[in-house]
Amino acid sequence: MRILIVEDEAEIVRFLKLELEHEGYEIISASDGRTGLDLALSESFDLILLDVMLPELNGIEVLRRLRREKHTPVIMLTARDTIVDKVTGLDTGANDYITKPFHIEELLARIRAIMRTGVFQTIDSEIIKIHDLELDTVQRLVTRSGETISLTKTQYDLLEYLMRNRNVVLTREQILNKVWGYDYLGDSNVVDVYIRYVRTKIGDTNDDKIIETVRGVGYVIREKA
Ligand code: CA
Repeated sequence: MRILIVEDEAEIVRFLKLELEHEGYEIISASDGRTGLDLALSESFDLILLDVMLPELNGIEVLRRLRREKHTPVIMLTARDTIVDKVTGLDTGANDYITKPFHIEELLARIRAIMRTGVFQTIDSEIIKIHDLELDTVQRLVTRSGETISLTKTQYDLLEYLMRNRNVVLTREQILNKVWGYDYLGDSNVVDVYIRYVRTKIGDTNDDKIIETVRGVGYVIREKA
């Protein structure tokens, strides 16, 4: 298992390297965002630990650029436990995040969880297909009529939830709880905003929409005869 650490605080890198090598992981490190991104794109890693506050290129930007090309699992290391960091990171495609300072045991548990879901399940894939829209739920790949569509984590989660529950009208609250989580404090209008994003991305803009609006209730994807 090969892990890339992108972190500018030498103390943290030293500590992580020591602990993770002790666990049997091979560790490569970069101390700025630019070098980290280059490594992440040119080499193959099982996991990336990515700091948010970095010189050259910040962690969110590194992640954004990485996700255009690769699905390598990423755990964000954030110094501030702000909702903004968490939401931005996860929305950009981070698989998890951990707030500094953290206990090594907690990080190890999260790494193991990612390795379990991220790497070993890629052997078999589960495809959900409705009309010409196809989801590979393991690789989190979306295609329509064979064309790959790039969605953010939240957009993907939203689409997968609707497709898994085909023919079931889902309320805004159900969608909010499932996709954003019970601890989400924002407005439920966010659901409508994201439905719009997803519709645009999948080209669902004509009258005969795949994602149907049920006025006053929520949304549904119906399998048409
Ligand atoms: Ca930093």
